[in-house]
Amino acid sequence: MSGNSGQPSRICVLGGGGFLGSHLVEELIEKTAFEVEAVDTTFEKLAVSSKRLRVTQASIEDPGVIDSAVMANDILISTTALCNPALYNSQPIDVINANYTHLVPLVELCSKQSRWLIHYSTCEVYGKMSAADSAAMNEANSPMILGPVNKERWTYACAKQLLERLIWAYGKHAGLAFTIIRPFNVIGPRMDFIPGIDGEGVPRVLACFMKALLKREPLQLVEGGGNRRAFIYVKDFTQAVLEIIGNPGRCQGEILNIGNPANDVTISELAEKMVKVFQTRYKPQHEYRLQSVTAEEFYGPGYDDSEVRIPDIEKISKLLKWQPVTTLDQMLPTVIEDYFTRYASDISGWGGQ
Ligand code: UDP
Repeated sequence: MSGNSGQPSRICVLGGGGFLGSHLVEELIEKTAFEVEAVDTTFEKLAVSSKRLRVTQASIEDPGVIDSAVMANDILISTTALCNPALYNSQPIDVINANYTHLVPLVELCSKQSRWLIHYSTCEVYGKMSAADSAAMNEANSPMILGPVNKERWTYACAKQLLERLIWAYGKHAGLAFTIIRPFNVIGPRMDFIPGIDGEGVPRVLACFMKALLKREPLQLVEGGGNRRAFIYVKDFTQAVLEIIGNPGRCQGEILNIGNPANDVTISELAEKMVKVFQTRYKPQHEYRLQSVTAEEFYGPGYDDSEVRIPDIEKISKLLKWQPVTTLDQMLPTVIEDYFTRYASDISGWGGQ
């Protein structure tokens, strides 16, 4: 299967139609020579076509899908997940299965067939941090503290952490070539959905605020919006993944944070920035309000949260000489424009903009 040079030539992105997967597939086609297989249930977000791209419409739970993907490729990149916080306490069984159970066969098979598994885990594995914990989250040293079992918010973090531990164990005890990636609040065009238009439920904060801006509703700040997140632009994130793929010798056997500590803001600061960019660009003749809601009102019972989440990116920066470069002020106009282009025509009051 490897090319004549003996280098890996085929790469499979499981979840290649999703937000992170579709950006990765596009960059793999544009910037590398790999033959790429994208496996997903839908491909509306994938805006690239190429002779080097093979699209497989299937769910990874379908019989034989993981087997075929592993047999046909040298590198497997797993990006599939149920990763909207609103699901963690409303559909916890699905969350545990999607983020752990359905991926166990992939880990086993990659180990057996000597494939490189690059797994998208999550910064949520670090768990619950209070504002007093100012230290950045570090792959080798940070503890991972989850809330109690009755706080179902932590089902996702726990499932993802257990899969990481399984991958690590296969690496250490069964020779699996792996790299675990921990994304920290990646945002960009095509993220999530707008409830009532192309999805139901509560998406992540960026899409929640875009819905409010487009529908002229108040932007809702959970518990006042004082929690902090450090946002990384999807293009910076994807560039890091390309660097990882190009450097197996340095990256196999490693767990790597990918985030942008310089873009650490409170959620209310994010809301204010988004209102400003939106008003300047679209002049909606509407005075937006920021409205505090309780976590229980917004997410229902069983929700819990991390007050801060700052990545330590020293390891990946040293290994790969990679650095995120895009500031929030640089990325927000592009991201907002993307949502407006995709959704404004479905929402009344935006004709002729
Ligand atoms: N949040 C908010 N308003 C919203 C959606 C989310 O204040 O409309 C808060 C949420 O409670 C959390 C932060 O924004 O503290 C980031 O939430 P997100 O769902 O984007 O993902 P997380 O970083 O928690 O995984």
